[in-house]
Amino acid sequence: MTLRILVVGAGVSGLAAARGLRIAGFRPDVVEELPATMVPGAGIFLPGNAGRALRMLGLDAPLRPLGDLIFRQMFQDSHGQPLFELDAAALWAGVGESRALSRADLQQVLLTGVGGEVRYDTAVRDLHLLDGAVKVEFGDGSVAEYDLVVGADGRRSMIRERTGLGGAATPTGQIVYRSVVSGGPALSDWTALLGRRSQIVAMPMGGRKLYCYADETVADGTPNPADPRARLRELFADFGGCVPAILGALEKVQVARTDEVVLERYSRGSVLLVGDAAHATAPTLAQGAAMALEDAVVLGEVLKRADGDVRVALDAYEDRRRQRCDLVRERTHERDGTRDVAPALRDPMLRRRGQRIFTDHYRALVEPF
Ligand SMILES: Cc1cc2nc3c(=O)[nH]c(=O)nc-3n(C[C@H](O)[C@H](O)[C@H](O)COP(=O)(O)OP(=O)(O)OC[C@H]3O[C@@H](n4cnc5c(N)ncnc54)[C@H](O)[C@@H]3O)c2cc1C
Repeated sequence: MTLRILVVGAGVSGLAAARGLRIAGFRPDVVEELPATMVPGAGIFLPGNAGRALRMLGLDAPLRPLGDLIFRQMFQDSHGQPLFELDAAALWAGVGESRALSRADLQQVLLTGVGGEVRYDTAVRDLHLLDGAVKVEFGDGSVAEYDLVVGADGRRSMIRERTGLGGAATPTGQIVYRSVVSGGPALSDWTALLGRRSQIVAMPMGGRKLYCYADETVADGTPNPADPRARLRELFADFGGCVPAILGALEKVQVARTDEVVLERYSRGSVLLVGDAAHATAPTLAQGAAMALEDAVVLGEVLKRADGDVRVALDAYEDRRRQRCDLVRERTHERDGTRDVAPALRDPMLRRRGQRIFTDHYRALVEPF
């Protein structure tokens, strides 16, 4: 069974999809428009279902020495007083380990799993659906035909627009900040301090470093701050707990916006969208990479099971991924809905019921997919 498969994009979802296809016996081409020298900064938190998917992709061994394991998620008010905690070790027991690590390390693990060359500096410029195939035009003017194109080209996916699967992503109204902090406070747990319309999260990510993530909800039209580090210091100036020590140790801060992608179908003809291109959400549940990794496992399985019949495989893919990815988006909305509630109302409720509510948000994801 020889299928000509192209994976567009070499982020988490593209590299994972290539791995999933490889272990199912296919040999996809992988292209990435950026140069190979572009290494992602900051860190990433991978809850237990991401750990399980990486194991199913046969990548748990190279992952094991990297980053720090996360056993508990501590939720605190803006003063650093406990609200509740999630026992991540218990929640994901028998599923997979929760881990925080550098994005560059995760990328390297995924890259070694591809098992073939990634063609960097190679953009897909356009594509045309044919009967049972896809004609692809690359940035250098070359053209090739494929039996399956996997669009792993991120939340601003051009594959999504060109195939008519969806339009532009919808902004979530959040500005997000990421930083790797050395010389900050000694934290052994994932720790979030919740403010009103803003939160800051810090976690150990190996090498005595902390991965810090923060966000704020803003009005339409608000530009990104010119000096993100100064903005974080301003935004969290009144916070207690570990925050003053983190703000004091902050160096480089990345700033970005987040978008949401909602599609009626993930595929059209012989084109499939995976990862953020198909179902981006705000990163509130830290499920973006996990969903992309699960997509990759399922893609390999359905194609193998359908014995290379792309149409049958893509229908089966839709059945297996739809409910789960929708669930992540719905839970993300529920969580983000509490951002606007005054802490004086929200915090007593979270002290009483936070553990149960937040555990329930993840429980369905514990189940096999
Ligand atoms: C601030 C922030 C924090 C987050 N934290 C977490 C977290 O802790 N845990 C978690 O699981 N998730 C987190 N996420 C979400 C997670 O980062 C994403 O879900 C995940 O990285 C998506 O990967 P992707 O490969 O689908 O997309 P991308 O990473 O966007 O990759 C797409 C790739 O396609 C390439 N490309 C685009 N167009 C073309 C083209 N035409 N031709 C060739 N190549 C192309 C791009 O250059 C890019 O390399 C976070 C997101 C944000 C914004």
